[in-house]
Amino acid sequence: MSYLNTVENQIEKQFYALGTLNHIKIFGTNDEESLNASIYRVLEIEQRMSAYDPNSDVSGINKCAGRAAFKIHKDTMEVLDRALEIWENSGEAFDITIRPLVELWGIGKKDNFVPCDEDIEATLRLIDSNCLLLDKVNNKASLKYVGQSIDLGGIAKGYAADEVKRILVEFGVENGLINLGGNIVVFGESSERNLFKIGIQNPLSSRGEYIGVLSVTDKTIVTSAVNERFFIKDGVQYHHILSPYTGKPSKMVILSVTAVGESSIIADAITTAIFVLGLSKGMALANKYGVELICITDNLDVLVSEGLREHFNMSIPA
Ligand code: AMP
Ligand code: MG
Repeated sequence: MSYLNTVENQIEKQFYALGTLNHIKIFGTNDEESLNASIYRVLEIEQRMSAYDPNSDVSGINKCAGRAAFKIHKDTMEVLDRALEIWENSGEAFDITIRPLVELWGIGKKDNFVPCDEDIEATLRLIDSNCLLLDKVNNKASLKYVGQSIDLGGIAKGYAADEVKRILVEFGVENGLINLGGNIVVFGESSERNLFKIGIQNPLSSRGEYIGVLSVTDKTIVTSAVNERFFIKDGVQYHHILSPYTGKPSKMVILSVTAVGESSIIADAITTAIFVLGLSKGMALANKYGVELICITDNLDVLVSEGLREHFNMSIPA
């Protein structure tokens, strides 16, 4: 279902896909066709990459694990290839073979469930992107062992956001704001004929308060935060980014990471990896990809990388 909002020379659609609510807004035009084509593309990407759709490429690879290679679309191959590159460059912190752990913890699905150490240990043995083999000649992918499975939840929204921008530009749209569940791409000018103002949320507030505002254009802005999906058991918060090193949710030293760069797929994977890597290694990874960062730590320190300082305005935290 999508919701449509049109004012003169400005049009917006809101729709549900990739497990989240999405908005696409364009300025200086009322070209609804460009929005429809963009939404169609996001739904197509979801169909190919969702771990919950039994007919997706991801489910095909997972079902064939340890037995056979599965034929996949070019899109999926591109995302898998990028995921493996970032896995290598992140010291294996970003690992899409994380799915058995995602299922074991069931964060966002089951309530208050902390697995025992034996189960974590056993599941951790399945997590290894060395076992994801891509056959680019025949467009097939396979996992080496039964029980292994992949999850593109940390990267697919970024790919989709890049694709929406590509399609809008192909349609001749010059100004737009794409928000796929926190994966934002802005280009051209906002409705005020200016830079886009993107609020960065306070990860400790449940009321969506901003800790500051970023003014940018022609960039992607991607935020991952511990308050996106989590549960609390015996006073401990367990969130949705899992460490392939420990098999547990990454330590709550960083509460929120925003990456600002050119490519949304890279910014998406990097923000996820930084939770696992921690601040200093995370910043090194961002540097390597030319991505700027805003990191909010557990004591609400807001670290803003050099290139963003004149674009970021702090509000006083609550
Ligand atoms: P994001 O919100 O982009 O940070 O992605 C979080 C999602 O990525 C989780 O809900 C999992 O589906 C998946 N995920 C969790 N931990 C990892 C990890 N270490 N590497 C890759 N994907 C992960
Ligand atoms: Mg991500």
